[in-house]
Amino acid sequence: MSQIITRFAPSPTGLLHAGNYRTAVFAYLFAKHVGGKFILRIEDTDVARSKKEYEENIYETLAWLGVKADETYRQSEHRPRHRELLEKLIADGTAYVSKETPKNPGDREEVIRFKNPHGSVTFTDVIRGDITTDVSDLGDFIIARSFDEPVFHFAVVVDDADEHVTHVIRGGDHISNTARQILIMRALSLPIPLYAHLPLIFDNTHKKLSKRTGAKALTEYRDQGILPEALLNYLSFLGWNPGDAREYLTRDELIQAFDLSRVQKGSAIFDDVKLLSVNQYWMR
Ligand code: GLU
Repeated sequence: MSQIITRFAPSPTGLLHAGNYRTAVFAYLFAKHVGGKFILRIEDTDVARSKKEYEENIYETLAWLGVKADETYRQSEHRPRHRELLEKLIADGTAYVSKETPKNPGDREEVIRFKNPHGSVTFTDVIRGDITTDVSDLGDFIIARSFDEPVFHFAVVVDDADEHVTHVIRGGDHISNTARQILIMRALSLPIPLYAHLPLIFDNTHKKLSKRTGAKALTEYRDQGILPEALLNYLSFLGWNPGDAREYLTRDELIQAFDLSRVQKGSAIFDDVKLLSVNQYWMR
């Protein structure tokens, strides 16, 4: 079997929170468990919202946690490749330049849309089993705002294929995006990776962790005295456990024990109090 490759693909549009880094940790532990490769790809194609300071915070946090990428890319560097494949889809008749009636100031008069093939798309999620979507409801969805501005769905599948990603491990909030992305992959004859959508994470007031609502950045936990060993340990247990009574595992023990088959479907709770007690163990 060829090498297993996972990736963490954050958008630097805000300070990432524990839920985002939990995704990075699972993708990293799984890759290392099977002797594979872990890629970091900064998805900075949303020029208006991406900020260098957020990107720097990602490098800083991953370095502190010791989640080391074997390769690092920035999505904006792949624009020529995105353009090439957009042009290919249009030449093939699978996508088209669509004239739009702008509704709000700043709306485009032209975008690139994917021709909906109708029917259904089924994929087998490693954690959740078969998921089927009727794609007719998606209409002719937008894949780029211009030849130099592909939207997330388009850029993500092209980059995953070019970087030979075999396992897309990401938050459960991306399940609803997968059918669109598979349609684009099929149209471009790209290999379809395996998907593992992780359980969502809520805080202890049952709110979903979100960049927009200001969930805490991990560098803040660091500045408050949380040890990287403790945070790595705690994040690993958000939706996974080693299948025995152990609660405190070092990085090497986590790598040894981690497997996608033990990832749960149900959501997980990020609890500051629990994190503090894990931290106390590691302080001792
Ligand atoms: N850039 C996307 C995000 O930050 C992730 C894309 C993915 O993992 O497929 O949500």
